[in-house]
Amino acid sequence: MQNQDYGRRNFLKQSALTGLAISLNPLESIATNAESGELTEYQTSVPWYSRVTRWGQINITEKDPPQYDISWWRKFWKQTQTEGVIINAGGIVAYYPTQIPLHRKAQYLQGRDLFGELCRAAHEDGLVVFARMDSNRAHEEFYQAHPDWFTQDANGKPYKAADLYITCVNGPYYQEHIPAILTEISRMYKPEGFTDNSWAGLGRDSICYCENCKKSFRDKTAQNIPLKKNWDDKVYKQWIRWNYDRRLELWDLNNRTTKTAGGVHCIWSGMNSGSVNGQSRSFRDYKEISRRADIIMLDHQSRSDEGGFQNNGEIGKLIHGLLGWEKLIPESMAMYQAHKPWFRLASKPIAEARMWMINGIAGGIQPWWHMVAAYHEDRRMYHSPGAVLNWHKANEGVLLNRKPVANIGVVWSQENTDFYGRDNAAELVELPWRGMTQALIRGRIPYLPVHADHIERDAAQFSVLILPNLAVMTNDQVAAIRRFVDKGGSLVATGDTSLFDEMGDPRSDFALADLFGAHLITPRTSKQITPVEKMAGEAYHTYMRLTPELRAQIMGPHTATEPLAVGQRHPILKGFEETDILPYGGLLEPLRTDSDVEVLMTYIPQFPTYPPEKSYMREAKTDIPGLIFKSTGNGGHVVFIPADIDRQFGRSYLPDHGNLLTNIVRWASKNDLPLNVKGAGLVDCHLYQQPGKLILHIVNLTSASTWRQPLDELIAIGPLKVEVKLPTSVTGRRLRTLVSNQKIAANIVNGYSQFEIKSILDHEIIIIT
Ligand SMILES: [Zn+2]
Repeated sequence: MQNQDYGRRNFLKQSALTGLAISLNPLESIATNAESGELTEYQTSVPWYSRVTRWGQINITEKDPPQYDISWWRKFWKQTQTEGVIINAGGIVAYYPTQIPLHRKAQYLQGRDLFGELCRAAHEDGLVVFARMDSNRAHEEFYQAHPDWFTQDANGKPYKAADLYITCVNGPYYQEHIPAILTEISRMYKPEGFTDNSWAGLGRDSICYCENCKKSFRDKTAQNIPLKKNWDDKVYKQWIRWNYDRRLELWDLNNRTTKTAGGVHCIWSGMNSGSVNGQSRSFRDYKEISRRADIIMLDHQSRSDEGGFQNNGEIGKLIHGLLGWEKLIPESMAMYQAHKPWFRLASKPIAEARMWMINGIAGGIQPWWHMVAAYHEDRRMYHSPGAVLNWHKANEGVLLNRKPVANIGVVWSQENTDFYGRDNAAELVELPWRGMTQALIRGRIPYLPVHADHIERDAAQFSVLILPNLAVMTNDQVAAIRRFVDKGGSLVATGDTSLFDEMGDPRSDFALADLFGAHLITPRTSKQITPVEKMAGEAYHTYMRLTPELRAQIMGPHTATEPLAVGQRHPILKGFEETDILPYGGLLEPLRTDSDVEVLMTYIPQFPTYPPEKSYMREAKTDIPGLIFKSTGNGGHVVFIPADIDRQFGRSYLPDHGNLLTNIVRWASKNDLPLNVKGAGLVDCHLYQQPGKLILHIVNLTSASTWRQPLDELIAIGPLKVEVKLPTSVTGRRLRTLVSNQKIAANIVNGYSQFEIKSILDHEIIIIT
C-alpha cells in the first residue's frame, strides 16, 4: 500500500474525516482521545472473547485491496472506541499470500498482504482480530480439480450460487482444506480467533447426494439418503438429525484446529442467525452450539417489519438463556441499508441504525458495526456507530455482568420449529411466539425466553410459564412442566401445545390434557400437522363469544332499553364489559373439557362479510371452547387457549387480542410483576440487577411503531410513571439516568420504588440503588 497512490485517496481522507468530527446527536459526541493500545491487568487476565465488547467490521470486497486506506480506518477504530475487528482472511478468496493449493487470491490483491497489514495494525492499536472465513463456496477451477468435494443434486449436477460452487460439509473441503487454511492463517498472523460467515454449508431446502454424503449417511443410519423432502418419512427426519450432528462435528473440528495452531484461547466461532427458523434451515443447533461456544457471533443485521427493533432485545435474551449471561454476544449491525431493500453501499438512516443497536444492547448484545467495502462514496454511515459505541463505553459497567429480572418465562425449542413448523414455521411457530411476546412488550411485562430443556433449571425464578403453540414436546419437557405446576407455578398454553412428540408425530391427546382440562375428540394424523386452513394468511370472519354474556341479546328478541346482566365475568375478561363478542380470525375444532374447568370464551363459526345483507351469524353460539381456565389446587392457575389468539395478534395486531393476552398473563401471575409502567407510547422494557442495584432500560419504539421502516426521525415520549419492585438489597431511593444524566426522586410504596421519567427520546437507562 505504501508504494501505491490513488488519486481519490486524499479526497476520501479529507471528506470522511471531516464527517467524523460531527455527531448528529446533541447529547453525545464522538470522543477523539481513544486510549493507547497498552493492555491493562484486566485485559491480560480475562480471555479476549470475554472482555472485548465493541466490534467493527469492514467486509472486504475483492475490489478493495488497492483502495483500503488502513491509516484512515485506524482513526475510525479509535474514534468509535472499537476494541475488536472482524477481518476477511480466506475461504472463497484469500486476502493474504496463501500457499494452500486452490485457495484463490482475491482478484485485485496484486501481491498485497491486506489481511496481514490489517491484522498488524489492529494489534498495534491494541485491538483483537477475528479472522473471517467463508467456507460455503469456491470457484470453478476448484470444482474442476475436486468435483467430489462439492455438493450435488440427485442427478449429479453441482449446486451453485451464481457462478460459485457450493462445497459439501461431508467432504475433504471441510475436513482438510478449511483446517489447512485456519492453520496457515493462525501460524502466519496470530489472530485471536476465527469466525465464518456461512460455515454450515448447504441449507435444508437442498439435499446433497455426493459420494461422501451417501457413505456417511449409510454408515450412520444404514439407510440411503431420502430422494425427496417428506416430513412424514422417518428416514427424512433422520437425515435432518444427521445434518445437525455434522455441523456440531465441524464446530468441534474447527476449534480443535485453531486451538492446536494458535493456543487455547484461539477459538473458532462460526456466525449464527438471529432467527431460530434461520438456524433450523441451516442445521445450526442453537442449544448445542451455545453449550460449546465461548462467544456467539450473531449475524442479525437489521430490523424486519414483522419483528421490529424489539426483536433485537428478545434475541439477546434468548441466546443468553442458552449461553449464560456472563458470555458475550456481539452482533453484526448493518450501517448500510440492509434488508427490504438491500443497498449495500447506501447509508441506513442514522435513526434506524441507532435504534437497532440500542435495542440489541438493551437485550444484552454488544455492538459490532458492519459496512461492506473499505471505500464509500456515501459517507453518512460513518456517523452511525460512534455515538452509540462511545455511550456504550461510558456505561458498560451496567450493560455487562448483570442478571435479568422477570417472573414470566416464554418457552421455546428448536425442535418445535423443525418437526412441527417444518416448512411452515413462520406461520406455525414464529407467529404465535411473536404475538405472545409482542403482547407482553406492549403490556410492559418483562419476560425471558426459556428453552424447553431448561424448564427444570430455570423454573425457580418464574411464577408463570407460557407455552405459545409449543406443539412438539419431549416426555421430559412435559414432566418438567408438571413439576413446575406441582410447585405452585401457573401455566398459559395455546393452540397445539404438547400435541406432538419430539419427532413431530401426533399424540392421541395433548400430553398436558389433564392440566389443560381439555381433550382432543378427533386425533390428528401426521398429515394434518399443518392443516392449511389453520394457517390462512388472512383472518377468517370468526368471533369469540365471551361467557357469560352480559346482555341477553342472543337468547331472544333484542331489548335495547334494559341490559340484562346474566352473570359475573372472570377478571381475565376485564375491560370487555361493553361487548359480548371479540373478533377472532382463526378456526376451532370441538374439544372435550373436564368438569373442573371454566370456559370463558366459545367459538362463533364463520359467516359472510359481504354483502351486508348476508353478514349475520349463522350459528351464534357453540360449545366449542376458545379459552379455558382452571385452578390447580397448588395455588397456581392453568389457562389453556385452544384459539390461536397469539398467532392472530402476531399477524393482525388487534388491540383486543393483545389486551386479552396481557390480561391472562397478569392474572396468572396474580398481578405480581416486578415492573409496572404507565404512560402513552410503545416501549420495550428490560429490567436487570447487579449487586445492590437495579437497571431499567426503556427503549422508545413509539416512532417506529407508527409506520414501516426505515426510521428517520426520533420522537420523544413522556412522562412515564414507573414502579419497580425492590429486592431486599436495593433501597430504591437513589435513582439516576444514564442517557439524560439526571437524578430522579422516588417514593417507596409497598416494596416498590415509584418514580416518573419526564421524557424519553430514543432510550433511557435508570439505575436504582
Ligand atoms: Zn455432500
